[in-house]
Amino acid sequence: MFISENLGVNHLGNLTICGADVVDLAKKYGTPLYVLDENLIIKNCNRFNDAIDKYYNGHGLVCYASKAFSCREIYRLIKGQDMGVDAVSLGEMYTALSVGFPAKKMHLHGNNKTIEELKFALENNIGRIVVDNFCELKDLNRLAGQMNLCAKIILRVKPGIDAHTHEFIKTGQIDSKFGFAIETGEAMEALKLALKLENIRLKGAHCHIGSQIFDSRPFALAAQVMAKYSKDVKDKTGIEFDELNLGGGFGVKYTQKDDPLECEEYVKAICLSLAQKCREYGLKLPFLIIEPGRSLIASAGITLYTVGNIKTIPNVRKYVAVDGGMTDNPRYALYKSEYEVIVANKANLEKSEVVTIAGKCCESGDLIGENIALQVAQPGDILAVCATGAYNYSMASNYNRNLKPAVVMVKDAKSRVIVQRETLEDLIRNDL
Ligand SMILES: *Cc1c(COP(=O)(O)O)cnc(C)c1O
Repeated sequence: MFISENLGVNHLGNLTICGADVVDLAKKYGTPLYVLDENLIIKNCNRFNDAIDKYYNGHGLVCYASKAFSCREIYRLIKGQDMGVDAVSLGEMYTALSVGFPAKKMHLHGNNKTIEELKFALENNIGRIVVDNFCELKDLNRLAGQMNLCAKIILRVKPGIDAHTHEFIKTGQIDSKFGFAIETGEAMEALKLALKLENIRLKGAHCHIGSQIFDSRPFALAAQVMAKYSKDVKDKTGIEFDELNLGGGFGVKYTQKDDPLECEEYVKAICLSLAQKCREYGLKLPFLIIEPGRSLIASAGITLYTVGNIKTIPNVRKYVAVDGGMTDNPRYALYKSEYEVIVANKANLEKSEVVTIAGKCCESGDLIGENIALQVAQPGDILAVCATGAYNYSMASNYNRNLKPAVVMVKDAKSRVIVQRETLEDLIRNDL
């Protein structure tokens, strides 16, 4: 009935997440409020870990793409699952290390890493640096030389797959700001340079074909392309990759229209294709890294708001305004992302209206969604927007000097704050 498996309705007709009454959560912690379900995050981690065990004999590592949701408690949780972490900035590395996340299980991504970020990664022994471009490769070699060490890297390559077209075939998609193109020979050139540089140790290659992909076949195709690239590398240089990182992008369910596969199906497609091609090419099986972000955490989260005013424009639309908006969830403004919304204190009632949900920011485009089916809402009702665990909190801003909401974690129906609500003092802390 609900979009995520952890949602339900209790005897009061209120929405529950992981067994906790969300109307109670809103009362206790205030709104807007991000709520995460720890049990479901762990369940999702297990799904990926188990799939790597089952289809690849455990010869791999699931790394959480932490840009989806980053805070100290999440890194603690991921650490507890024996997983790795993908970081894309100084801030993400710093936050993970601050809770003792093992540096060797982290890797640093980014298409334009700063010198400061590269230095920080080297100083802190971040497991891998995923090198994006020639400039970075040379900078890294120089920095590592100055520090008298060897940078362990993998190369980010573009496998030339556009997973978002209906055909998702090889399109020669070389217009991306990320990585080296395979088909132009750029990736081979980068590899040869990496092998020459004294303070660089090349371990393998990385690709990431996109996000919110519902089909397993583009992932299988990417695995095949990467195996072929590995073979070409071996033929031309004699070098065999130790590892391949095949990225994330596994689709999740935001609305009833979305029909993602089980995590296991994506992993299975990747592992079987990779193993088959490696056998065919006579390559040893590389250590396999995958980087799920949203598929670990999106469905585990909801955002709670209090309904403010309701504005009916005859023959046009009805606006239901909430006490948050693009500051806590910019995804509608960015990509017209759709969500399922529920009046949490009327979750047992039918959705008999179609409304537009507006935020409180001074932008007409500040909407949570347009033409959303909803129970009849009144001022003071609690609205729950579902599957907001990924790319909401991590994309939040202080636009209009709104305060970032608190984040509450629910485990076995018990709640605790994991990120405090911002205060007015926080807001002016850095102002002079
Ligand atoms: C964003 C990203 C991911 C995670 O993508 P999801 O869609 O959240 O799974 C993984 N790897 C890289 C390199 C990324 O940029």
